[in-house]
Amino acid sequence: MDVVVIGGGIVGCSVALELARRGHSVHVAERSAGPGLGSTSASSAIVRFHYSTRAGVAVSWEARAGWLDWAEHVQVAPRAAARLIVAGCLVFDSPAFDTGEVLTLLREAQVPCERWDAQEIRLRAPAISPDRFWPPKKVTDAEFWAPPAGELSGLFTPDGGFVNDPQLAAQNLREAAERDGAQFTFQAQVVAVPQKSGRVVGVDLADGTRLHASVVINAAGPHSGHINVLAHVLGDFARTTRPMRQEVHSLPAPKDYNLNDPGSPVVNDPDLGIYFRPHFGDAIIVGGMEPACDELMWVDDPDQFNPAPTTPVWEAQTLRLARRLPSLRIPHRPSGIANLYDVTPDWIPIYDKTALDGFYVAIGTSGNQFKNTPILGYLLAELIEYTENGADPDDSPLHVRLPRTGLIVDMSHYSRRTAPTARSSSSVLG
Ligand SMILES: Cc1cc2nc3c(=O)[nH]c(=O)nc-3n(C[C@H](O)[C@H](O)[C@H](O)COP(=O)(O)OP(=O)(O)OC[C@H]3O[C@@H](n4cnc5c(N)ncnc54)[C@H](O)[C@@H]3O)c2cc1C
Repeated sequence: MDVVVIGGGIVGCSVALELARRGHSVHVAERSAGPGLGSTSASSAIVRFHYSTRAGVAVSWEARAGWLDWAEHVQVAPRAAARLIVAGCLVFDSPAFDTGEVLTLLREAQVPCERWDAQEIRLRAPAISPDRFWPPKKVTDAEFWAPPAGELSGLFTPDGGFVNDPQLAAQNLREAAERDGAQFTFQAQVVAVPQKSGRVVGVDLADGTRLHASVVINAAGPHSGHINVLAHVLGDFARTTRPMRQEVHSLPAPKDYNLNDPGSPVVNDPDLGIYFRPHFGDAIIVGGMEPACDELMWVDDPDQFNPAPTTPVWEAQTLRLARRLPSLRIPHRPSGIANLYDVTPDWIPIYDKTALDGFYVAIGTSGNQFKNTPILGYLLAELIEYTENGADPDDSPLHVRLPRTGLIVDMSHYSRRTAPTARSSSSVLG
């Protein structure tokens, strides 16, 4: 097959490597100057397994095995490869996330996990207060500083953590794909998706070049909706994508919660509406989990958004963090980044064919798919080969056996035609 991948983020690079290794001719068109410079570069890169769906758990657990083998996968020396930092991952119980259901899914997939009550949290992660503050509130709410109402328990997965450098992971994939024959063109913006007799025939670039291909994959991240409009494929989508702005803040780590301290897990905290993790340089990063009290920052044009952190969001996220980490000290000035998620209505991505023959989508990653990088290319390559060999996943969904864990994923979970599922947390947790 002759394949064009639109977008050289982590998703486009993953699928490029897998298809090149399978012997296909692959060309990645990326409009910026290098790989992984879009939302990938801003990723908090958290690797966790607590998803609200069976496929979410299975794929993330499979991907973790891939991170452990990453240097071998991308065939570079370990010192030149991105790396999984294992810190463990704690998610608090909350009406916003049913950890009971999730525990069942984790056990089914044989993911090691432990229930921690408040006492265990104090013992294992002494910096972290198990106080219950539900529901999340605006910092301007008079109730924000109200005393806690009880205590929380949570679910701990010791194998969770984060990847040290998401952009390096994209660069690793790009170099590996090039060694296997893939071609990358940077500063190449796709402006049209030409088609003939119901089949895609390639892409047109802004400089007038046409790249011919029988298969085109939309991996344009927050620009995915725009590319789907260019391709005229949205007619039968039950779920579409929309860019959402997010801020992630960075501040000095307290002395009792940092990378050198084994009691410093990554934390998902739906009780306060934040997530946080230790970071390099004695820092801590904190992001949001879309609590009901916060306005969602939808963006109409992904080329027009403020990339700087703002004082109101900084105050909300860091003050919530201070309730969870009582020893935290908050600097006066905001520090951090803002970037875009590519969000679907149920926060579950769309990895699928479309009604235009040869045109595929790997989109709607909803702030939660970086961790799945080591398996994404495999899933998409299986789906593309299945379809191009004559099967129709709309009628006969593909079931993929994951190579390392043996778990089975029903790819209709990621179908464009599957209505939004009520099982989802409808947040970045997926
Ligand atoms: C702030 C933030 C925190 C996150 N934290 C986590 C986390 O902790 N854990 C996790 O698992 N996931 C996380 N994610 C999500 C994860 O980073 C994304 O799911 C992933 O990076 C998406 O990769 P992508 O390749 O689809 O998109 P991108 O990295 O955005 O790549 C898409 C590429 O397409 C290119 N492009 C767009 N339009 C065109 C065009 N017309 N022609 C050519 N090229 C084009 C863009 O330039 C871009 O490089 C986070 C995301 C953000 C923004």
